[in-house]
Amino acid sequence: MTTITLVQGDITRQSVDAIVNAANSSLLGGGGVDGAIHRRGGPEILAECRKLRASHYGKGLPTGQAVATTAGKLDARWVIHTVGPVFSDTEDRSGLLASCYRESLRVADELGARTVAFPAVSTGVYRWPMRDAARIAMETVRSARTEVEEVTFVLFDERAHEAFAAQLS
Ligand code: ADP
Repeated sequence: MTTITLVQGDITRQSVDAIVNAANSSLLGGGGVDGAIHRRGGPEILAECRKLRASHYGKGLPTGQAVATTAGKLDARWVIHTVGPVFSDTEDRSGLLASCYRESLRVADELGARTVAFPAVSTGVYRWPMRDAARIAMETVRSARTEVEEVTFVLFDERAHEAFAAQLS
């Protein structure tokens, strides 16, 4: 059984085995949580991302997939980079959002990570409605087969925290 915990705050301050990054497919950094992780984690993470890009993801990391680097100066062993889908009004991309959580946990299992922190993937620049994103995140983690013992959702603001809390009860 995986314990699910919610905290409101900054994911770069978490002490866990693996921190999940809502990256973009370039793996070369961006704004939001991605920018925060690279700023606090230092250049080592970006250097590893560049190597991964060169060796495996010349066309970018596909949406819904996940890949790990070390965590630089963060208080974690790994950063798991996943690419969320951009929200669409005309196309149901919820399977891709669920895949981000499932694939991140699969990578965490490969690494042997037992504690994993997730942000609310796709709910920033990628515009996914918070309530729906919270539902998908929670359902996917609840039903995942994983060795991860604790998943912490780190929600940046009160609105996000409330949306996730509503899914817990
Ligand atoms: P995406 O491109 O997947 O939408 P964003 O980084 O723009 O990714 O936003 C994803 C979520 O992460 C948003 O809810 C945003 O408020 C939140 N966020 C931004 N910075 C942080 C942080 N330092 N820690 C945790 N969550 C954050």
